[in-house]
Amino acid sequence: MTENIDNNSKANLKDDHDLNHGTCLCHDHCHDHDHKHEHNHEHSGRWEPYVGVAISMALLIAGLILDHFHDFMTNTIWAKPLWYFVAIIPVGFPVVKEAIEGVAQKDYFNELTLMSIACIGAFCIGEYAEAVGVMLFYCIGENLQDLAVGKAARDISKLLEIKADKARVIINGEAIIKKPEDVEVGDIIEVYPGERVPLDGKMLSQEGGMFDTSALTGESVPREIDKDEEVMAGMISTGSTVRLQVTNPLSESAVSRILDLVKNAQAKKAKSEVFIRKFARIYTPVVTLMAFLVVVVPFFISMLHPFHYVFSEWLYRALVFLVISCPCALVISVPLSYFAGIGAASRKGVLFKGGNFLETIRNINVIAFDKTGTLTTGKFNIEKVVASSDIEPDKMISLMAAGESQSSHPLAKAIVNYANLKGLRLPSPTFMKEISGKGTNATIEGHSILVGNLKLLESKNISYPAELKDNPSTIVALAVDGIFAGYVVLSDMPKADSKATVSDLHKLGIEKVVMLSGDRKEIVARYASKLGIKEGLGELMPQDKADYVEKIAKSPGKKIAFVGDGINDAPVLAISNVGVAMGGLGSDAAIESADVVIQTDKPSRLVTAIKIGRFTHKIVIENIVGALIIKVAILTLGVLGLASLWAAVFADVGVTMLAVLNSMRIFWKKY
Ligand code: ADP
Ligand code: MG
Repeated sequence: MTENIDNNSKANLKDDHDLNHGTCLCHDHCHDHDHKHEHNHEHSGRWEPYVGVAISMALLIAGLILDHFHDFMTNTIWAKPLWYFVAIIPVGFPVVKEAIEGVAQKDYFNELTLMSIACIGAFCIGEYAEAVGVMLFYCIGENLQDLAVGKAARDISKLLEIKADKARVIINGEAIIKKPEDVEVGDIIEVYPGERVPLDGKMLSQEGGMFDTSALTGESVPREIDKDEEVMAGMISTGSTVRLQVTNPLSESAVSRILDLVKNAQAKKAKSEVFIRKFARIYTPVVTLMAFLVVVVPFFISMLHPFHYVFSEWLYRALVFLVISCPCALVISVPLSYFAGIGAASRKGVLFKGGNFLETIRNINVIAFDKTGTLTTGKFNIEKVVASSDIEPDKMISLMAAGESQSSHPLAKAIVNYANLKGLRLPSPTFMKEISGKGTNATIEGHSILVGNLKLLESKNISYPAELKDNPSTIVALAVDGIFAGYVVLSDMPKADSKATVSDLHKLGIEKVVMLSGDRKEIVARYASKLGIKEGLGELMPQDKADYVEKIAKSPGKKIAFVGDGINDAPVLAISNVGVAMGGLGSDAAIESADVVIQTDKPSRLVTAIKIGRFTHKIVIENIVGALIIKVAILTLGVLGLASLWAAVFADVGVTMLAVLNSMRIFWKKY
C-alpha cells in the first residue's frame, strides 16, 4: 500500500507538474498538451544518460586538445567538423529526435527546438566546439535537475506514505494478514510496536498504549491512548502490542482524508503558477522571433547605414539569445515551490486544499474565530444540574442526553458523556432534528423533547424561571411537551495556545481578530477579554456569522479567514476568503467546506500556515525575479556580442539549479 500511495502521489505530480518526469521537464511544462513524447532518457536506466554525457565530454575535451596541439585538425578540412559531429551524437541525437517529433505534433516552440536550432546553427557557422557544448551542458543540466526534482518529490511523497500496507486481523485467536481495505468494521486487529495502525479503531487493550501521531498531526510528542479511546489509522504504536476494534472502513479514515486532500490540492493552482504557464507559452515563441530579428535587423540597418555586416557573427549572437532564453527555471520552480509549501504545512498538521489558498492566506488581514471548539477546548464540564420540581434529576438528564444523542455539538457530547458516566439508560429518539445555533428537537417515548439554549425556549414560547436570564454561564435547558423541565450549567476552557495565537496574529500584522459565537453575549465578552480579542460578538445565528464574514469578504482591500469547527460553521467557512476547519474535533461538514484543515485543532497552527504562505510567496518572487535578471543580463550581453555560447549554457543550467534549490528551502525551513 505504501508503494501504492507513492505511485499515486507521483502519478499526480506527473499529471500536474511533471515534477517527477524523466528529462526535459520544461518541455512539457511550456506546452500543456496531452501527448507525451517518448523520451530516450526516460526509458533508460539511471546510468545511461550519463554514458552519453561522458562520451560526448571525452570527445569534446580530446577535440579541444587536438585542436590546440596538433596540425591535423586544422590542416585536414573535414577532420574537425567530423570529430565534433561525432561528439554531438550521444547527447544531441535524442534531443533533436524529440524536437522533430514535437514539431510533427505541431509543437514548434519549446526548449528542445531552441537547443536544436542553437546547436545546428553553431555547427553551420563553424563553431563546432560550442555546438557540442550547447547540447552537452543542456543534457547535464537536465540530468542534475532530474536528480534535484526527483529527490524533492521523493521527500515530499514520503510524507504521504502514512498508510499501512497490511492489517493483522485476529480471527478465532489466529492472526491473519489482510489488506486494510478488506478489513470490516467490528473486526479485531493487532498492531505490533513500531507498526503503523492500518485502520481507525477503538483501543481494546487494558493498559492502552503510546502512539506517535506525527504523521497526522505534526505533533512530535507521543500520545497515550487509554482503553476504549479512539486510535487513528496512520499513528505508529511506539510502546506495546495493542489490539483494536475497527470502527471505520479504510476509505473513511483520517489518513484517507489527508491523502485525498493533499492529492487534490495540486489541482487547485496558485495564480502565479497559472500565470507562469501562460507566460512560457508566449515567451518562448517571442524569444525565437527576437533571435531571428537579431540576425535580420542589423542586415537591413547595414544596407541603410553601411557597416561591415558579418552574417555568422550576428547568427552567433542570436544563438546565444536562444540558449539563454529557455524558460526552464521559472516553469519548474514555481509549481515546485507551492508543492513544497503544501508539503511543509502538512508536516505541521495543516492541510491546504490547494496552492491557491497558500497564496490567499498570506494576504489575510481579518481573522474571525468561532468560540466553542475553536478557541475553547469544546470539552465541557457539567457544573450544575437543576431539575424542575416535577421531574427526577436522573430522568431529566437521561431525556436531555437522549435528545442530544445524535448531535455532534460539543455541548451535546458533554451531556451524553455525563449521562453515560452516571450509567443512565438513554431511550432512543424516534425523530431528531438539529436546530442550528439553538439546540435539538426530538421525539422520545412519544414526548416532544427540546434541548438547547434560552433562545430555543423563547422561539417556542416556553416560559422559564426569570433568574436563568441573569446566569452568566453556558446553560442548556430541557423542555418536555412544551414545558420547561430544568437545565444544566456547563463550562469549558480556552485552549492552551489560544491567547498566544491572538497576539502572534497581531504580530504578523493582522489588522483585526474577532470572535463570532452563538453563545451568550456575556460569556463571549468574558472569553474575548481573556484572550486579548477586542471584538467578541455573541448570540449570533449561523446566518449572522455568515453575513458578518460575507460583508468583510466583499469589502475592497479586506481578506478574511474564518476558523471554525461546527456543522453550523460550514456555510461561513465557504463564504470566507480562506476557511479554516479544526480537523480533529471538527465536524465532517466543516472539514468538507474548509480550504485549510488544522489536524491538531490547535489555533496556533494558523500562525504557522500564514508564515508558510508568506515564505512560499517570497521564494516564488525571488526565483522569478532572480531568473529574469540573470537572463536579461546575459541576453543583453549576448546581443552586444559580449557573451559567448559557453556563458549562455552555464547561466541557463545554473539559474535552473538555483531556483530548484531555493524552492526546497520552503520544505526544509523551521516555521
Ligand atoms: P459557537 O459559535 O460558540 O460554536 P454554535 O453556533 O455552535 O456556538 O451554537 C450556539 C449556541 O446554540 C450554543 O452556545 C448553544 O447554546 C446552542 N446549541 C447549539 N446546538 C446545541 C445542541 N446540540 N445542544 C445544546 N445547545 C446547542
Ligand atoms: Mg463551534
